[in-house]
Amino acid sequence: MLKTIDSLGDLRGKRVIVRADLNVPLDGTTITDDGRIRAAVPTLKRLLDAGAKVVVISHLGRPKGAPEEKYSLKPVVSRLGELLGTEVAFATDTVGDSARSTVGGLEEGGIALLENLRFNPGETAKDEAERRVFAQAIADMGDAYVSDGFGVVHRKQASVYELASLLPSAAGELVLKEVESLRKVTDEPARPFVVVLGGAKVADKLAVIDNLLGKADRILIGGGMAYTFQKAKGYEIGQSLLDEEKIDTVREYMERAEKQGVELILPVDNVVAAEFSADAEPTVVGADGIPADQEGMDIGPKTAELFASKIKDAATVFWNGPMGVFEFEKFAEGTKAVARAMSEAEGYTVVGGGDSASAVRNLGFDESLFSHISTGGGASLELIEGKELPGIAILEEGTK
Ligand code: ADP
Ligand code: MG
Repeated sequence: MLKTIDSLGDLRGKRVIVRADLNVPLDGTTITDDGRIRAAVPTLKRLLDAGAKVVVISHLGRPKGAPEEKYSLKPVVSRLGELLGTEVAFATDTVGDSARSTVGGLEEGGIALLENLRFNPGETAKDEAERRVFAQAIADMGDAYVSDGFGVVHRKQASVYELASLLPSAAGELVLKEVESLRKVTDEPARPFVVVLGGAKVADKLAVIDNLLGKADRILIGGGMAYTFQKAKGYEIGQSLLDEEKIDTVREYMERAEKQGVELILPVDNVVAAEFSADAEPTVVGADGIPADQEGMDIGPKTAELFASKIKDAATVFWNGPMGVFEFEKFAEGTKAVARAMSEAEGYTVVGGGDSASAVRNLGFDESLFSHISTGGGASLELIEGKELPGIAILEEGTK
Protein backbone atom coordinates (compact mmCIF):
# COMPACT_ATOMS: atom_id res chain seq x y z
CA MET A 1 0.00 0.00 0.00
CA LEU A 2 1.28 3.43 -0.90
CA LYS A 3 1.25 6.22 1.65
CA THR A 4 -1.42 8.78 0.73
CA ILE A 5 -1.73 12.52 1.25
CA ASP A 6 -4.18 11.80 4.09
CA SER A 7 -1.34 10.25 6.06
CA LEU A 8 0.43 13.63 6.11
CA GLY A 9 -2.24 15.02 8.45
CA ASP A 10 -3.28 18.67 8.63
CA LEU A 11 -1.36 20.57 5.98
CA ARG A 12 -2.60 24.10 6.69
CA GLY A 13 0.35 26.47 6.58
CA LYS A 14 2.77 23.61 5.91
CA ARG A 15 5.25 23.84 3.05
CA VAL A 16 4.56 20.84 0.84
CA ILE A 17 7.07 20.02 -1.86
CA VAL A 18 5.44 18.32 -4.84
CA ARG A 19 7.59 16.48 -7.38
CA ALA A 20 5.53 16.83 -10.54
CA ASP A 21 6.39 15.89 -14.10
CA LEU A 22 5.90 19.10 -16.07
CA ASN A 23 8.21 17.96 -18.83
CA VAL A 24 5.96 19.16 -21.64
CA PRO A 25 6.98 19.37 -25.31
CA LEU A 26 7.87 22.93 -26.30
CA ASP A 27 8.14 24.66 -29.64
CA GLY A 28 10.32 27.57 -28.57
CA THR A 29 8.34 28.76 -25.55
CA THR A 30 4.98 27.45 -26.80
CA ILE A 31 3.59 24.34 -25.10
CA THR A 32 2.48 21.92 -27.83
CA ASP A 33 0.79 19.40 -25.50
CA ASP A 34 -0.22 20.40 -21.96
CA GLY A 35 -1.33 16.90 -20.93
CA ARG A 36 1.27 16.58 -18.20
CA ILE A 37 0.42 19.95 -16.67
CA ARG A 38 -3.26 18.99 -16.58
CA ALA A 39 -2.34 15.66 -15.00
CA ALA A 40 -0.59 17.50 -12.16
CA VAL A 41 -3.62 19.62 -11.30
CA PRO A 42 -5.69 17.30 -9.01
CA THR A 43 -2.93 16.93 -6.41
CA LEU A 44 -2.01 20.60 -6.51
CA LYS A 45 -5.65 21.70 -6.17
CA ARG A 46 -6.16 19.38 -3.26
CA LEU A 47 -3.10 20.72 -1.43
CA LEU A 48 -4.05 24.33 -2.12
CA ASP A 49 -7.56 23.68 -0.83
CA ALA A 50 -6.03 22.19 2.30
CA GLY A 51 -4.24 25.51 2.90
CA ALA A 52 -0.74 24.22 2.20
CA LYS A 53 2.09 26.34 0.84
CA VAL A 54 2.77 24.38 -2.31
CA VAL A 55 6.26 24.18 -3.79
CA VAL A 56 6.33 22.48 -7.19
CA ILE A 57 9.53 20.93 -8.52
CA SER A 58 10.04 19.34 -11.93
CA HIS A 59 12.52 18.73 -14.69
CA LEU A 60 12.13 19.70 -18.33
CA GLY A 61 14.14 18.09 -21.11
CA ARG A 62 17.67 16.85 -20.59
CA PRO A 63 19.95 19.70 -19.57
CA LYS A 64 23.34 18.51 -18.38
CA GLY A 65 23.41 19.74 -14.79
CA ALA A 66 23.63 23.45 -15.63
CA PRO A 67 21.11 26.14 -16.59
CA GLU A 68 20.14 26.31 -20.26
CA GLU A 69 17.55 28.83 -21.36
CA LYS A 70 15.74 26.44 -23.72
CA TYR A 71 15.03 24.06 -20.85
CA SER A 72 13.63 26.68 -18.48
CA LEU A 73 10.31 25.85 -16.80
CA LYS A 74 9.28 29.49 -17.17
CA PRO A 75 6.91 28.83 -20.11
CA VAL A 76 4.96 26.42 -17.90
CA VAL A 77 4.09 29.00 -15.20
CA SER A 78 1.20 30.77 -16.91
CA ARG A 79 -0.48 27.58 -18.18
CA LEU A 80 -0.25 26.04 -14.72
CA GLY A 81 -1.74 29.22 -13.23
CA GLU A 82 -4.60 29.19 -15.76
CA LEU A 83 -5.45 25.58 -14.98
CA LEU A 84 -5.32 26.16 -11.22
CA GLY A 85 -7.09 29.50 -11.37
CA THR A 86 -4.45 31.12 -9.20
CA GLU A 87 -1.18 32.94 -9.63
CA VAL A 88 1.96 30.78 -9.60
CA ALA A 89 5.18 32.35 -8.34
CA PHE A 90 8.37 31.35 -10.15
CA ALA A 91 11.88 30.96 -8.77
CA THR A 92 14.73 31.32 -11.23
CA ASP A 93 16.80 28.67 -9.46
CA THR A 94 16.04 25.41 -7.66
CA VAL A 95 17.76 25.63 -4.27
CA GLY A 96 19.39 29.07 -4.40
CA ASP A 97 18.43 32.54 -3.16
CA SER A 98 15.53 32.88 -5.57
CA ALA A 99 14.00 29.56 -4.50
CA ARG A 100 14.43 30.23 -0.79
CA SER A 101 12.93 33.71 -0.92
CA THR A 102 10.09 32.60 -3.20
CA VAL A 103 9.18 29.76 -0.86
CA GLY A 104 9.62 32.04 2.16
CA GLY A 105 7.13 34.48 0.64
CA LEU A 106 4.34 31.90 0.15
CA GLU A 107 1.09 32.29 2.03
CA GLU A 108 -1.39 29.58 2.98
CA GLY A 109 -2.95 28.32 -0.25
CA GLY A 110 -0.13 29.87 -2.30
CA ILE A 111 1.95 28.09 -4.90
CA ALA A 112 5.40 28.43 -6.44
CA LEU A 113 7.25 26.60 -9.20
CA LEU A 114 11.03 26.27 -8.88
CA GLU A 115 13.36 26.25 -11.89
CA ASN A 116 14.35 22.99 -13.61
CA LEU A 117 15.75 20.39 -11.19
CA ARG A 118 18.20 19.18 -13.81
CA PHE A 119 19.97 22.54 -13.88
CA ASN A 120 21.67 21.03 -10.80
CA PRO A 121 24.15 18.17 -11.23
CA GLY A 122 22.98 16.55 -7.95
CA GLU A 123 19.56 15.67 -9.36
CA THR A 124 20.76 12.92 -11.67
CA ALA A 125 24.20 12.25 -10.14
CA LYS A 126 25.38 8.64 -10.22
CA ASP A 127 26.89 9.15 -6.77
CA GLU A 128 24.31 8.63 -4.05
CA ALA A 129 26.01 11.00 -1.60
CA GLU A 130 25.89 13.77 -4.17
CA ARG A 131 22.18 13.17 -4.78
CA ARG A 132 21.58 13.23 -1.04
CA VAL A 133 23.21 16.62 -0.61
CA PHE A 134 20.99 18.08 -3.32
CA ALA A 135 17.88 16.36 -1.94
CA GLN A 136 18.66 17.78 1.51
CA ALA A 137 18.85 21.29 0.06
CA ILE A 138 15.34 20.82 -1.33
CA ALA A 139 14.09 19.19 1.87
CA ASP A 140 15.27 22.22 3.86
CA MET A 141 12.58 24.28 2.11
CA GLY A 142 9.69 21.95 3.00
CA ASP A 143 7.74 20.24 5.77
CA ALA A 144 6.35 17.37 3.69
CA TYR A 145 6.89 15.73 0.31
CA VAL A 146 4.40 14.49 -2.25
CA SER A 147 5.62 12.37 -5.15
CA ASP A 148 3.41 12.94 -8.17
CA GLY A 149 5.76 12.90 -11.16
CA PHE A 150 4.77 9.50 -12.44
CA GLY A 151 6.98 9.90 -15.52
CA VAL A 152 10.10 9.72 -13.33
CA VAL A 153 9.25 7.18 -10.60
CA HIS A 154 11.43 4.57 -12.30
CA ARG A 155 14.45 6.81 -11.78
CA LYS A 156 16.69 6.84 -8.72
CA GLN A 157 17.07 10.60 -8.76
CA ALA A 158 17.40 13.07 -5.91
CA SER A 159 13.94 14.62 -6.17
CA VAL A 160 12.27 11.25 -6.69
CA TYR A 161 14.09 8.89 -4.35
CA GLU A 162 16.40 10.51 -1.78
CA LEU A 163 14.01 13.39 -1.09
CA ALA A 164 11.25 10.96 -0.17
CA SER A 165 13.35 9.62 2.67
CA LEU A 166 14.15 13.06 4.09
CA LEU A 167 10.61 14.33 4.75
CA PRO A 168 7.26 12.81 5.70
CA SER A 169 6.18 11.65 2.26
CA ALA A 170 3.22 10.38 0.28
CA ALA A 171 2.12 9.45 -3.22
CA GLY A 172 0.06 12.07 -5.04
CA GLU A 173 -3.24 11.53 -6.82
CA LEU A 174 -1.64 10.97 -10.21
CA VAL A 175 0.87 8.41 -8.97
CA LEU A 176 -1.90 6.53 -7.15
CA LYS A 177 -4.13 6.48 -10.21
CA GLU A 178 -1.30 5.42 -12.53
CA VAL A 179 -0.17 2.59 -10.30
CA GLU A 180 -3.71 1.33 -9.81
CA SER A 181 -4.50 1.44 -13.54
CA LEU A 182 -1.29 -0.24 -14.62
CA ARG A 183 -1.53 -2.95 -11.98
CA LYS A 184 -4.89 -3.86 -13.51
CA VAL A 185 -2.96 -4.70 -16.66
CA THR A 186 -0.20 -6.69 -14.99
CA ASP A 187 -1.98 -8.49 -12.16
CA GLU A 188 -4.14 -11.14 -13.75
CA PRO A 189 -5.27 -9.22 -16.83
CA ALA A 190 -8.59 -10.19 -18.39
CA ARG A 191 -7.89 -12.25 -21.54
CA PRO A 192 -7.18 -12.03 -24.36
CA PHE A 193 -4.43 -9.64 -23.22
CA VAL A 194 -2.97 -7.77 -26.18
CA VAL A 195 0.17 -5.62 -26.16
CA VAL A 196 0.89 -3.23 -29.00
CA LEU A 197 4.45 -1.92 -29.26
CA GLY A 198 5.95 0.64 -31.58
CA GLY A 199 7.91 3.87 -31.46
CA ALA A 200 11.55 4.56 -31.96
CA LYS A 201 13.31 3.47 -28.76
CA VAL A 202 13.92 -0.05 -29.98
CA ALA A 203 16.51 -1.18 -27.45
CA ASP A 204 14.49 0.09 -24.45
CA LYS A 205 11.41 -1.71 -25.53
CA LEU A 206 12.86 -5.07 -26.42
CA ALA A 207 13.17 -5.88 -22.71
CA VAL A 208 9.43 -5.42 -22.45
CA ILE A 209 8.82 -8.09 -25.05
CA ASP A 210 11.11 -10.42 -23.15
CA ASN A 211 8.97 -9.96 -20.04
CA LEU A 212 5.63 -10.05 -21.75
CA LEU A 213 6.24 -13.24 -23.66
CA GLY A 214 5.07 -15.11 -20.58
CA LYS A 215 2.08 -12.85 -19.93
CA ALA A 216 0.47 -11.51 -23.10
CA ASP A 217 -1.65 -13.55 -25.51
CA ARG A 218 -0.76 -11.37 -28.48
CA ILE A 219 2.07 -8.94 -29.09
CA LEU A 220 1.66 -6.63 -32.09
CA ILE A 221 4.80 -4.93 -33.30
CA GLY A 222 4.83 -1.81 -35.47
CA GLY A 223 6.65 1.53 -35.70
CA GLY A 224 10.41 1.73 -35.73
CA MET A 225 10.58 -1.52 -33.69
CA ALA A 226 9.31 -3.67 -36.50
CA TYR A 227 12.21 -3.41 -38.92
CA THR A 228 14.69 -5.15 -36.65
CA PHE A 229 12.26 -8.08 -36.64
CA GLN A 230 11.80 -7.90 -40.40
CA LYS A 231 15.57 -7.88 -40.81
CA ALA A 232 15.87 -10.89 -38.48
CA LYS A 233 13.47 -12.72 -40.77
CA GLY A 234 15.86 -12.02 -43.62
CA TYR A 235 13.81 -9.31 -45.30
CA GLU A 236 15.31 -6.26 -46.99
CA ILE A 237 14.53 -3.15 -44.89
CA GLY A 238 16.30 -0.44 -46.90
CA GLN A 239 17.07 2.69 -44.86
CA SER A 240 14.61 1.86 -42.08
CA LEU A 241 15.39 2.16 -38.37
CA LEU A 242 17.44 -0.86 -37.29
CA ASP A 243 19.08 -2.03 -34.10
CA GLU A 244 21.79 -4.15 -35.66
CA GLU A 245 23.04 -5.55 -32.36
CA LYS A 246 19.62 -6.85 -31.42
CA ILE A 247 18.94 -9.00 -34.45
CA ASP A 248 19.84 -12.25 -32.65
CA THR A 249 17.85 -11.27 -29.57
CA VAL A 250 14.84 -10.56 -31.71
CA ARG A 251 15.19 -13.88 -33.50
CA GLU A 252 15.24 -15.62 -30.13
CA TYR A 253 12.03 -13.80 -29.08
CA MET A 254 10.29 -15.00 -32.21
CA GLU A 255 11.30 -18.59 -31.48
CA ARG A 256 10.15 -18.33 -27.87
CA ALA A 257 6.82 -16.82 -28.86
CA GLU A 258 6.25 -19.70 -31.20
CA LYS A 259 7.09 -22.28 -28.51
CA GLN A 260 4.92 -20.58 -25.86
CA GLY A 261 1.97 -20.13 -28.17
CA VAL A 262 2.09 -16.33 -27.98
CA GLU A 263 0.99 -14.63 -31.17
CA LEU A 264 3.84 -12.30 -32.12
CA ILE A 265 2.41 -10.31 -35.00
CA LEU A 266 4.59 -8.29 -37.36
CA PRO A 267 3.57 -5.94 -40.16
CA VAL A 268 2.51 -7.58 -43.41
CA ASP A 269 3.02 -4.34 -45.32
CA ASN A 270 4.71 -0.97 -44.79
CA VAL A 271 4.38 2.58 -45.97
CA VAL A 272 7.80 3.69 -47.17
CA ALA A 273 9.34 6.91 -48.48
CA ALA A 274 12.60 8.03 -50.05
CA GLU A 275 13.20 10.66 -47.38
CA PHE A 276 12.22 11.41 -43.81
CA SER A 277 10.00 14.41 -44.42
CA ALA A 278 6.39 15.55 -44.22
CA ASP A 279 6.17 15.97 -48.00
CA ALA A 280 7.80 12.67 -48.91
CA GLU A 281 5.82 10.54 -51.35
CA PRO A 282 4.34 7.50 -49.55
CA THR A 283 4.43 4.07 -51.22
CA VAL A 284 2.98 0.83 -49.87
CA VAL A 285 5.20 -2.24 -50.12
CA GLY A 286 5.04 -5.80 -48.74
CA ALA A 287 6.88 -6.50 -45.46
CA ASP A 288 9.45 -8.66 -47.24
CA GLY A 289 10.87 -5.98 -49.49
CA ILE A 290 11.57 -2.36 -48.63
CA PRO A 291 13.59 -0.94 -51.56
CA ALA A 292 17.23 -0.23 -50.70
CA ASP A 293 16.84 3.54 -51.08
CA GLN A 294 13.58 3.81 -49.08
CA GLU A 295 12.73 3.77 -45.38
CA GLY A 296 9.74 2.46 -43.49
CA MET A 297 7.59 5.33 -42.17
CA ASP A 298 4.36 3.58 -41.09
CA ILE A 299 2.64 0.22 -41.04
CA GLY A 300 0.70 -0.43 -44.24
CA PRO A 301 -3.10 -0.51 -44.66
CA LYS A 302 -3.34 -4.32 -44.49
CA THR A 303 -1.33 -4.31 -41.26
CA ALA A 304 -3.50 -1.53 -39.84
CA GLU A 305 -6.57 -3.64 -40.51
CA LEU A 306 -4.95 -6.77 -39.09
CA PHE A 307 -3.84 -4.98 -35.91
CA ALA A 308 -7.28 -3.41 -35.46
CA SER A 309 -8.92 -6.83 -35.66
CA LYS A 310 -6.49 -8.21 -33.07
CA ILE A 311 -7.26 -5.30 -30.73
CA LYS A 312 -11.02 -5.12 -31.03
CA ASP A 313 -11.87 -8.43 -29.36
CA ALA A 314 -9.25 -8.05 -26.61
CA ALA A 315 -10.27 -7.85 -22.96
CA THR A 316 -7.09 -5.96 -22.00
CA VAL A 317 -4.97 -3.81 -24.30
CA PHE A 318 -1.74 -2.04 -23.47
CA TRP A 319 -0.27 0.17 -26.18
CA ASN A 320 3.12 1.87 -26.16
CA GLY A 321 4.75 3.53 -29.15
CA PRO A 322 3.31 5.02 -32.35
CA MET A 323 2.98 2.76 -35.40
CA GLY A 324 4.68 5.28 -37.67
CA VAL A 325 5.96 8.81 -37.95
CA PHE A 326 2.54 10.17 -36.95
CA GLU A 327 3.90 13.72 -36.69
CA PHE A 328 3.72 13.76 -40.52
CA GLU A 329 0.10 13.52 -41.63
CA LYS A 330 0.82 11.14 -44.50
CA PHE A 331 2.37 8.64 -42.12
CA ALA A 332 -0.18 8.82 -39.31
CA GLU A 333 -2.71 6.29 -40.60
CA GLY A 334 -1.29 3.25 -38.80
CA THR A 335 -1.20 5.06 -35.46
CA LYS A 336 -4.73 6.33 -36.07
CA ALA A 337 -5.97 2.81 -36.83
CA VAL A 338 -4.57 1.46 -33.55
CA ALA A 339 -5.95 4.41 -31.57
CA ARG A 340 -9.35 4.00 -33.23
CA ALA A 341 -9.48 0.25 -32.58
CA MET A 342 -8.58 0.83 -28.93
CA SER A 343 -11.18 3.55 -28.56
CA GLU A 344 -13.80 1.15 -29.95
CA ALA A 345 -12.68 -1.92 -27.97
CA GLU A 346 -14.92 -3.07 -25.14
CA GLY A 347 -12.01 -4.18 -22.97
CA TYR A 348 -9.73 -2.36 -20.55
CA THR A 349 -7.48 -0.11 -22.64
CA VAL A 350 -4.29 1.59 -21.50
CA VAL A 351 -1.99 3.88 -23.48
CA GLY A 352 1.55 4.43 -22.16
CA GLY A 353 4.38 6.53 -23.57
CA GLY A 354 4.77 10.26 -24.03
CA ASP A 355 4.53 10.26 -27.80
CA SER A 356 1.74 7.69 -27.90
CA ALA A 357 -0.34 9.74 -25.47
CA SER A 358 0.23 12.94 -27.42
CA ALA A 359 -0.60 11.07 -30.65
CA VAL A 360 -3.98 10.12 -29.17
CA ARG A 361 -4.68 13.72 -28.26
CA ASN A 362 -3.24 15.39 -31.35
CA LEU A 363 -4.96 13.01 -33.76
CA GLY A 364 -8.27 14.09 -32.27
CA PHE A 365 -9.38 11.08 -30.25
CA ASP A 366 -11.65 11.52 -27.27
CA GLU A 367 -9.51 10.62 -24.26
CA SER A 368 -12.53 9.36 -22.36
CA LEU A 369 -12.81 6.44 -24.81
CA PHE A 370 -9.64 4.97 -23.29
CA SER A 371 -9.64 3.40 -19.85
CA HIS A 372 -6.35 5.07 -18.94
CA ILE A 373 -3.80 7.26 -20.70
CA SER A 374 -0.57 7.11 -18.77
CA THR A 375 1.66 10.15 -18.36
CA GLY A 376 4.71 7.94 -18.08
CA GLY A 377 6.64 6.24 -20.85
CA GLY A 378 9.53 4.38 -19.25
CA ALA A 379 7.75 4.20 -15.89
CA SER A 380 4.63 2.61 -17.33
CA LEU A 381 6.71 0.13 -19.33
CA GLU A 382 8.72 -0.88 -16.27
CA LEU A 383 5.55 -1.38 -14.23
CA ILE A 384 4.11 -3.51 -17.02
CA GLU A 385 7.32 -5.53 -17.03
CA GLY A 386 6.78 -6.24 -13.36
CA LYS A 387 9.92 -4.41 -12.16
CA GLU A 388 10.20 -2.71 -8.79
CA LEU A 389 10.34 1.05 -9.29
CA PRO A 390 12.54 2.93 -6.78
CA GLY A 391 10.27 5.98 -6.68
CA ILE A 392 7.27 3.76 -5.87
CA ALA A 393 9.00 1.40 -3.45
CA ILE A 394 10.10 4.36 -1.31
CA LEU A 395 6.45 5.43 -0.91
CA GLU A 396 5.25 2.09 0.40
CA GLU A 397 3.89 2.09 3.93
CA GLY A 398 6.51 1.07 6.40
CA THR A 399 9.34 2.88 4.58
CA LYS A 400 10.58 6.05 6.18
P1 ADP B 1 6.67 6.74 -26.72
O1 ADP B 1 7.07 8.13 -26.37
O2 ADP B 1 5.20 6.61 -26.94
O3 ADP B 1 7.22 5.75 -25.75
P2 ADP B 1 8.88 6.50 -28.57
O4 ADP B 1 9.50 7.69 -27.92
O5 ADP B 1 9.56 5.21 -28.44
O6 ADP B 1 7.33 6.38 -28.12
O7 ADP B 1 8.75 6.75 -30.12
C1 ADP B 1 8.00 7.79 -30.66
C2 ADP B 1 8.58 8.21 -31.98
O8 ADP B 1 8.73 7.09 -32.83
C3 ADP B 1 7.72 9.19 -32.72
O9 ADP B 1 8.35 10.46 -32.74
C4 ADP B 1 7.59 8.59 -34.13
O10 ADP B 1 7.77 9.54 -35.15
C5 ADP B 1 8.72 7.58 -34.13
N1 ADP B 1 8.53 6.52 -35.12
C6 ADP B 1 7.46 5.69 -35.23
N2 ADP B 1 7.59 4.88 -36.30
C7 ADP B 1 8.76 5.21 -36.88
C8 ADP B 1 9.46 4.76 -38.04
N3 ADP B 1 8.95 3.83 -38.81
N4 ADP B 1 10.65 5.33 -38.34
C9 ADP B 1 11.15 6.31 -37.56
N5 ADP B 1 10.55 6.79 -36.45
C10 ADP B 1 9.37 6.25 -36.12
MG1 MG C 1 8.93 9.23 -26.62
